Amino acid sequence: MREVDMLARDGGRAAVEGLRAADLRHYLHPFTDSRALAAEGGTRIITRAHGPYIWDAEGRKTLDAMAGLWCVNVGYGRQELAAAAHEQMLELPYYNSFFKTTTPPTVRLAERLAALTPEGLNHVFFADSGSEANDTIVRMVRHYWALEGQPERRVIISREYAYHGSTMVAASLSGSHMHSQGGLPLPDFDHIAPPYWYGRGRDMDPAAFGRSAAQALEAKILELGAGRVAAFIGEPIQGSGGMIIPPDTYWPEIQRICREYDILLIVDEVITGFGRTGRWFASEHYDLKADLMSLAKGLSSGYIPISAVMVGDRVAHTLIEKGGEFFHGFTYSGHPVACAVALENLRIIEAEDLVGNAAHTGIYLQGRLQELADHPLVGEVRGIGLLGAIELVQDKERGEFFSPQGEVGTRCRDHCFQNGLVMRAVRDTMIISPPLIFTPAHVDELMEKARLALDLTARDLARR
Ligand SMILES: *Cc1c(COP(=O)(O)O)cnc(C)c1O
Repeated sequence: MREVDMLARDGGRAAVEGLRAADLRHYLHPFTDSRALAAEGGTRIITRAHGPYIWDAEGRKTLDAMAGLWCVNVGYGRQELAAAAHEQMLELPYYNSFFKTTTPPTVRLAERLAALTPEGLNHVFFADSGSEANDTIVRMVRHYWALEGQPERRVIISREYAYHGSTMVAASLSGSHMHSQGGLPLPDFDHIAPPYWYGRGRDMDPAAFGRSAAQALEAKILELGAGRVAAFIGEPIQGSGGMIIPPDTYWPEIQRICREYDILLIVDEVITGFGRTGRWFASEHYDLKADLMSLAKGLSSGYIPISAVMVGDRVAHTLIEKGGEFFHGFTYSGHPVACAVALENLRIIEAEDLVGNAAHTGIYLQGRLQELADHPLVGEVRGIGLLGAIELVQDKERGEFFSPQGEVGTRCRDHCFQNGLVMRAVRDTMIISPPLIFTPAHVDELMEKARLALDLTARDLARR
């Protein structure tokens, strides 16, 4: 009998408890305080999903307004993706790209991504996760500068509240919230303040704040010495850092500075790629001309691990013409099954115009989110396309944050979960990033449940 049928069976309580106990005994969860989890009685076991909904082992249905972890763009339960994997596994389950070899889906996906991504990004390096994509980029960027005769250009400048992944390099690129363990950041990673107007800039108008936040890059370059700086990396919109949407003045100024000091621009579109913001890539909103771009999550809608580094003509030309062998790659770089699934996923996004849907339903979502602005706990709502954020504050008039940060957000997230909704909390900001198949009716359901969770959170605070 299949595990899921056992769990679903009438009286399957013992099976569920058995699984939960085994989880506590053997499974160390990512980004989890294992002791606290055990004290709370263990995990919630998700057993199946369809469209934008997930079901747990107790049979509770939940609207997943996070698309898993920002990744299930085409929604759950897609037969076509399962079929693509099945067929490719039977045809050729694995072969590598190391031995002067390749596989058809690998080539087709590289070709497709070169066509789909903004102009000038015509080469692809495959990896298996966003973290690996960013590690790859750092190695590639340093190799590039060495080949260009400037090996002392090693420093990568990133931002506070950035999230670029969890490996040693990707965590070094991420903000200081990722540096308290493991002796990070590694040498030659530096950070500037984020363009977080609500949190850091309300004494200025947003346009002036955006410019000044960008100018922090110039100050940092001058502090380090331009000859030491290899690249700047940024998410067009900072996702896991709290949905930080820069003022429109920010990216033009960043790009001006990169050009002026001849610094490579790395754009991390791991969340924002593949339709999330209502365009194929958020780079299109800001007219970003990236030298390198990281892609993962929505590339396969999370059905299978795969990531890609888009390499711009400037770097690709040097690597190919001057590089010799690049000592880098993964056993599963360009994995045929992952590439076949990604290709089918891209076909679905295009055939169903999910990018257009993210734009249209996004307008409806943003409009309805504004209705929450008058809630006593809500300091600001913001968003773009099918990304949204609800920032909870202690004092609405003065925009004062809770102290310590994070408890109220976690409480609100727990109320969401108990009432059939997944929203994530970053500090005290509630985050929305649903599948791109979301309809206005799903948005209505989300809003009703979100308001209930906010009311329950406010009630808890009033009782304290
Ligand atoms: C999730 C994420 C990553 C890391 O991707 P993994 O697949 O978890 O390694 C990198 N960058 C951004 C912007 C992300 O959101």
